[in-house]
Amino acid sequence: MIETRQLCKRYGEFVAVDAIDFKVEAGQVLGFLGPNGAGKSTTMKMIAGFLAPTSGSARVCGHDVVADALAAKRETGYLPEGAPSYGEMTPRRFLDFVAEARGLRGARRKQRVEEVIDRLHLHNVLGQSIETLSKGFKRRVGLAQAIVHDPAVLILDEPTDGLDPNQKFEVRNLINAMARDKTIIVSTHILEEVQAVCTRAIIIARGRILADATPTELEARSRYHQAVSLTTSDLAGARNAMSRVADVAAIEYDKISQRLTAIPKPGRRIFGAVGDALKAQAIPVGELQLESGRMDEVFRTITRGDLGEDIAEEERA
Ligand code: ADP
Repeated sequence: MIETRQLCKRYGEFVAVDAIDFKVEAGQVLGFLGPNGAGKSTTMKMIAGFLAPTSGSARVCGHDVVADALAAKRETGYLPEGAPSYGEMTPRRFLDFVAEARGLRGARRKQRVEEVIDRLHLHNVLGQSIETLSKGFKRRVGLAQAIVHDPAVLILDEPTDGLDPNQKFEVRNLINAMARDKTIIVSTHILEEVQAVCTRAIIIARGRILADATPTELEARSRYHQAVSLTTSDLAGARNAMSRVADVAAIEYDKISQRLTAIPKPGRRIFGAVGDALKAQAIPVGELQLESGRMDEVFRTITRGDLGEDIAEEERA
């Protein structure tokens, strides 16, 4: 549904997107993950036909986004970063306007606008100017304009950025609902979003792809994959019991969560052995948990050599 080949964007000498190659198959929700300044928006703008590549190519449903721009755009819905729209218009007027610009006419236009109003639950705000809407509703209007022409492909640039937790939850549900009949690329720097909506994730930094895997595969790269964590009233005893398990590589204590974590040697499983060791020493255990892995640690490990703006700032601090 989407394919890029050696896709590049330069601004003068600066390379914002550096020979990116990937494919997205029908029905996939691809998370585009990376620190600020990684090149996510620039890549999405090129696929959406909003920005011309310096070199390389991108195709949407087989149509080259430059040579066959109109055909590619017909198949593409695009929510730019911040969901810009015309603030003085009402949602109905704005959606009518976008539908017309998308070439929808007459009864078909009316029907599609009504459908997206229904799908994004916009009934109660139809007569209000967009600039007076809450951020959550503005984002819904942005999503509505992206799907009004019923595209096969959706490109969503940071769709939940700046929203409160309830609004984030709601937008993620909408994305999951749209994923039933669309192929979606969604950019984010929020790691929990990848688990919440994506079937696959590409990690990008400094314009290059550093990882391309399912969220589960990414978690499995974490040193906390298959780690065992627990709460206990006998920290010293638990630490001692865990340290006797041959496949335990390290033990960490987190003061904030008050959890003790045993990290396995690479590729090893320790849950049973740690449980047995604790039982043998009669250590009181409050909560015993097997970890699938920590996405934030994987993200930092993968992007560390290619520090993005945010991480570089943090490191300096
Ligand atoms: P992301 O979406 O991952 O935060 P962007 O794609 O917006 O990153 O930006 C990638 C890099 O390209 C950044 O360093 C940004 O400053 C730079 N950049 C983006 N647009 C322009 C532009 N019009 N002129 C010069 N540099 C730009």
